[in-house]
Amino acid sequence: MRLPLHLAVDQVKNQVRNSLKGQKRYPYVLMLEPLYTCNLACLGCSTERHTGKLKDRMSLEDCLAAVDESGAPTVSICGGEPTIYPELKELLDGIIERKRHIYLCTNALLLDTKVFGKIDPHKRLTINVHLDGMKETHDFVCNREGVFDKAIEGLKEAIKLGYHTTINMTIFKETKVDEIEEVCEFVSGLGVHGILMSPGYQYESVERDMFLTRQDIQTKFQRIIEISSKYRLTSTPMFLEFAAGMRDYPCSPWSTVTRTPLGWKGPCYLIGKRYYDTWDEFWNGVDWEYWESRKDPLCRNCAMHSGFEASVVRNLHRSPKDMVRIAAWHVLG
Ligand code: SF4
Repeated sequence: MRLPLHLAVDQVKNQVRNSLKGQKRYPYVLMLEPLYTCNLACLGCSTERHTGKLKDRMSLEDCLAAVDESGAPTVSICGGEPTIYPELKELLDGIIERKRHIYLCTNALLLDTKVFGKIDPHKRLTINVHLDGMKETHDFVCNREGVFDKAIEGLKEAIKLGYHTTINMTIFKETKVDEIEEVCEFVSGLGVHGILMSPGYQYESVERDMFLTRQDIQTKFQRIIEISSKYRLTSTPMFLEFAAGMRDYPCSPWSTVTRTPLGWKGPCYLIGKRYYDTWDEFWNGVDWEYWESRKDPLCRNCAMHSGFEASVVRNLHRSPKDMVRIAAWHVLG
């Protein structure tokens, strides 16, 4: 199976439950950013995500309330660096008690001191390590030497200890497809359970010109499709085709809702036009139809999985061929 069976089943249950209720829009994933404190300042990261003070983090109660309010079956904990969050164990326990699935998105630098021996492996917990290339590239993107070696050390130990592990690779302008394949080959050899790739997006607060234009994204993803069958990519084949410019979808920004220390972020994971104090203000306040249309200039170069993987799912019923392809992708992966 491409994804753990229980995770795939819970995602389908979420879709069936909401469809039966006649809901057109509903969250698939909660991006929970409990803190904007980080032990790195990566070049591709927005400034606010690594300059926050620990004292300004979300409370444990607010984090768990966000899990309840969103109703999303999957919670992706990012930040900031989530292993710095002092209440991490209680947070993970609370999410698991609620029978949700967790992706702990980490740079892996603190896994040995904050996770191993303190937080046991669990079928609902995936450790998702940020890895943007091989040693030279990753250390460059992370703006510090030695980060790659430490991340690989953490990844190997996590696999040895029995955690479900994935890597998350952002594709930048300079990323060479040969290096993408090298990373896939290398981490597959280590035994990681999945590889997520997404095109880097120009955040409003990132100055550096390292991001792809729509044309760059399409060219890179056309090559990625060629190598995709060799590795356990967690991006669906239809999403890869969308990123490669071979098909088109409206956005589904509501499928991946984001809660931060500043409130609920709208309209999407990437764009913080406004932060809302309450779930109701957020959910009823964002003009979803407008953002689905992608006509805003900020959407021009976007092909983020957080906006479009749900669009793949929403449009499956239009094509029996796509339904068969995605079932085969899940089962044979
Ligand atoms: S296209 Fe991208 S930037 Fe625009 S709303 Fe969707 S996810 Fe956000």
